[in-house]
Amino acid sequence: MDATEKRTAVAASGTGAVQEPFVNLRDPAKRLGPDGKPAVSRRAPIWVDVPDEKWNDWRWQLSNRINSLEEIGRVINLTDDEREGLSAPDKFRVDITPYFASLIDPDDPDDPIRLQVIPKGQELRAFTGMMEDSLAEDRHSPVPGLVHRYPDRVLMLVTTQCATYCRYCTRSRIVGDPSQNFNRAEHEAQLDYIRRTPQIRDVLISGGDGLTLAPKLLESVIRGLREIPHVEIVRIGSRVPVFLPQRVDDELCEMLAKYHPIWMNLHFNHPNEITPEVARAADRLNRAGIPLGNQSVLLAGVNDCVHIQRDLVHRLVENRIRPYYIYQCDLVEGAGHFRTPVGKGIEILEGLRGHTSGYAVPMYIVDAPGGGGKIPVMPNYLISYSDHKVVLRNYEGYITTYEEPTTYTPHDATKCRHCRTPRPEPGQEGVTGLLDGKRMWIEPAGFELTHARGNVEAHRLQDASKWVPYGVGAIEGQAGAPFPAIGEGAGTAEGAGGAGTAEEGGSPAAGAQVTGEPARAYGPGEEPRPPEGMPTGSAHGELL
Ligand SMILES: *Cc1c(COP(=O)(O)O)cnc(C)c1O
Ligand code: SF4
Repeated sequence: MDATEKRTAVAASGTGAVQEPFVNLRDPAKRLGPDGKPAVSRRAPIWVDVPDEKWNDWRWQLSNRINSLEEIGRVINLTDDEREGLSAPDKFRVDITPYFASLIDPDDPDDPIRLQVIPKGQELRAFTGMMEDSLAEDRHSPVPGLVHRYPDRVLMLVTTQCATYCRYCTRSRIVGDPSQNFNRAEHEAQLDYIRRTPQIRDVLISGGDGLTLAPKLLESVIRGLREIPHVEIVRIGSRVPVFLPQRVDDELCEMLAKYHPIWMNLHFNHPNEITPEVARAADRLNRAGIPLGNQSVLLAGVNDCVHIQRDLVHRLVENRIRPYYIYQCDLVEGAGHFRTPVGKGIEILEGLRGHTSGYAVPMYIVDAPGGGGKIPVMPNYLISYSDHKVVLRNYEGYITTYEEPTTYTPHDATKCRHCRTPRPEPGQEGVTGLLDGKRMWIEPAGFELTHARGNVEAHRLQDASKWVPYGVGAIEGQAGAPFPAIGEGAGTAEGAGGAGTAEEGGSPAAGAQVTGEPARAYGPGEEPRPPEGMPTGSAHGELL
């Protein structure tokens, strides 16, 4: 009798009954089909005769992907828009695993899986703001395929290949193109940059999809990373478990588990993608000790619905996959018909936060066009605050106040070991620098005009004479204009003491013109604060 048997026997003797081994029917990875065998998802009729060994072999799935109008037309009933998309000569690559194509309802033109992988004629149309490299990744690449945008982590593109191609892919400029693939020499250059950059503690392997690499090549990349002492965590961003769950076999999981700590972010967009095969793949990865997250993209017609999103996040947490991000659709070529207003994302978050488990609520992210990085966008729960009270509202609209402490001893940096040994990256104070009084404002830098609006003028944020500092006392439209001395020109103390409107000549602009003083630029820490009694304005109308 081993230890487990002994415990079972003791437990059973306590109740006086011999207990059957417990079968957890709630576990999605253990679900059984009508035949009493592990549940399987639907197969399209053209593949019903494929033997199970082949169907369940990821290599078979990859080499039998469908991509032409004829092949896809044998699986689903194509619409005219899809025929136009599939016939276009220069379209983004099409390839769909038989497993994933089988999940499509062949007669539903709005099927959420179909919309993600079958091109439509609409994807060929340009839209306002469209860009080829909307996140300016190429400009942030010190070596090919390595994007270093954040201080302590990098994105490492190890391949341009995926198991199936998403029509809205943010990296469609390189993804799918075998002639732009990364080879061992480039992996080595990427590793070399990471080796020489000790602030990198987190490496995100992506592509394309790293899990489509030949297993030996993938292992050599991960091993190369693990040999770098300052790399703390390795993350893999992959859609393979969605398109090709057969790939998540014991061999892969055992290989990955050798290189812990490894985290993985998957990419599910709709509950229909979470099949019994996916549940077993997620279970294997979880049992290999890999924490799983999910990043989805908010897509019109696919998941722009609170109820779909709620069902998705419930299916995810049930499979021990933590919703991480919902991305606003990028301004990338081909994605125009998938875009939603940002308000839709806010509405979805409103429908999740408080209504369901905190574990099930992702962050909503707008990845800044032009390469500013990820920006979280949240509903407003903070309504107002004063020096002692914060006014908040909850998910039901209930308004409450939180009394601030009357005494608070500020954190003592001189006694704090963490403060005395900060990480070395420069420029990390960011907007919190404003709070620390290091700066009065932050001037946008490196803003380049890459969008396709046909606007050839410098962006106002690049032109100092157009730039309005955004802060206390900033006057709309008056960047750099000095305030007149009290009593000078028309902007008198009396005028300003009234309504201070432009008609009364109470605006500082009028004063500046009268005195003829040249406009002056304000440096960091300086602020065009109006003198006592002068009107203040806000720059909010000028932000865009
Ligand atoms: C998304 C991304 C990361 C990772 O960002 P997290 O918010 O830490 O998940 C890192 N580098 C680049 C270039 C990215 O786009
Ligand atoms: S899996 Fe990712 S990289 Fe590949 S096509 Fe889809 S979005 Fe693009």
